[in-house]
Amino acid sequence: MNPNYKPPYIKRSKSGKTPRALAKIRAWKSFSRWVRLRDAIKTTGTKEWVLCCTCGKKLRAFGAKNMGEECADAGHCPYIEGRADNVLFIEKGVHAQCTHCNQYHGGKPTEYYNFMMVNYNAVEIEEIRKQRYVQVKYYESDFQEIHLKYKKKYKELQEKLAQLESEE
Ligand SMILES: [Zn+2]
Repeated sequence: MNPNYKPPYIKRSKSGKTPRALAKIRAWKSFSRWVRLRDAIKTTGTKEWVLCCTCGKKLRAFGAKNMGEECADAGHCPYIEGRADNVLFIEKGVHAQCTHCNQYHGGKPTEYYNFMMVNYNAVEIEEIRKQRYVQVKYYESDFQEIHLKYKKKYKELQEKLAQLESEE
């Protein structure tokens, strides 16, 4: 064997994830951030605090979860469980939820159904339910578009809130 042989260089991320998987994570982060800000404004009128959609607990909308700080998740309603492309980014089907409800109580389906009934009409709920059966496969570029869309929407919400605060 040639002692100077080097294997060809293959570009990959540190985590070993494909560019598509990384783009999906990025899109989800932007979407989740927008959901939590939307719900924070809706439930507390602030950008820092939000109420959990299934237990009503007040908690921080944002925080360094990896540093052990408690903050809200963006939890899917039980009509559209899972993380498949067709159900991941449905605005009316995802809401701020505490980690306790979202992860340790399977999303609290009974409470979540109630929340949906109170907040959306039958037509809206049917639209969300139907998404389960839609075949969708996103490419890396689609996730990039989703990321940019919610980055923009997040900024717009922030501006709207700043405007409201300045009027007070
Ligand atoms: Zn909760």
